[in-house]
Amino acid sequence: MPNIIIAIDGSSSSGKGTFAKKIASCLGLPHLDSGAVYRAVTLYGLRSGRIAWNGDIDFRALQEDLLHEKADISFVVDRRGDSHIFLGDDDVSTEIREMEVARNVSAVSALPFVRNYVDELLHKLGSKGCVMDGRDIGTAVFPNADLKIYMTADPQIRAQRRVEQMRQSGLEANFDEILKNVQERDYMDSHRSFHPFKMADDALVLDNSHMTVEQQMEWLDGILQERFGLKLL
Ligand code: C5P
Repeated sequence: MPNIIIAIDGSSSSGKGTFAKKIASCLGLPHLDSGAVYRAVTLYGLRSGRIAWNGDIDFRALQEDLLHEKADISFVVDRRGDSHIFLGDDDVSTEIREMEVARNVSAVSALPFVRNYVDELLHKLGSKGCVMDGRDIGTAVFPNADLKIYMTADPQIRAQRRVEQMRQSGLEANFDEILKNVQERDYMDSHRSFHPFKMADDALVLDNSHMTVEQQMEWLDGILQERFGLKLL
């Protein structure tokens, strides 16, 4: 396993998760989805009542819970290379994709104490080599990552991808509601004051609006060969 860190940042449903997972499996590295951790914190907040039905957050209680490891968040990679996220013994990998979590996650992830908690967890999991995707991996979590990629795609295409992903997981999905949520999260994530979503100066840009995953892999294969002598395909 190469001891390298590949940081993939991108807007919601830009395809970064699928791309990151594929790269990780080709290189034999763990794939870590940082968005899943923010979603798990949000789900914990909803389940514990720290986030009320109207989106109000009990900041102090949530901070105390995270400090005392009450959310008990963990990652497990199964034999097929799929990562699962747990709250205690409960595999919440599907539940974190629900709309109620999507509606609240940007407000939760804007809180500095939440970001510090998640960053620490991500460092523990990824510092020996990984492919990690998110919003601030190349700028804040691993600013010295060996390779940084910034992914983007047209919002309509991204919303359609999210609809398909949710339906495949057996969740209800409404295109208009999802497009609105994708655009709102883009705005909130890039306008928060602490670790906002932005492109690292040294990131390579990949607009995959009209690219298949295979074409994206071919694009990266050339770069990995040139920079690290590694072959993906
Ligand atoms: O990637 P995904 O859309 O699942 O991420 C869910 C949310 O988690 C994002 O909208 C953003 O608010 C937050 N996030 C973040 N920083 C990351 C990854 C995700 O703020 N590195």
